[in-house]
Amino acid sequence: MSENRRQTEKDGLNQILEEARRDRERREKTYREQALKLFPNVCGRCGREFSGKRLRELTVHHRDHNHDHNPPDGSNWELLCLYCHENEHSRLMNSQWSDSSSSRREGPSTPIDSPFAALESLLKGKK
Ligand SMILES: [Zn+2]
Ligand SMILES: [Zn+2]
Repeated sequence: MSENRRQTEKDGLNQILEEARRDRERREKTYREQALKLFPNVCGRCGREFSGKRLRELTVHHRDHNHDHNPPDGSNWELLCLYCHENEHSRLMNSQWSDSSSSRREGPSTPIDSPFAALESLLKGKK
């Protein structure tokens, strides 16, 4: 019956999603292994060395933040420990924020920080 067919379609979709997920995992594993072979197993920021079990703390950072951009020469990769990797991302996020408000000059000037300014005055006004 139709109930039965719907079940099969759902399974098919699940299978596609599952395959996509596995494919991505396989790809991530591959570029990580490549990067570990290509570079010394040392964090690019703090210089700590990783080996054996601790090697899993060493992660691959994508310089342009595009995880699909994996040139085989490793030019888009950087090995960072979990801690420095996190730092790297929050630092970049911060600089992106300040960049967008200071150096964006094309188009009509829209004050990027206005929602925050409005919020601030709202908070101040409440006191
Ligand atoms: Zn580190
Ligand atoms: Zn990263």
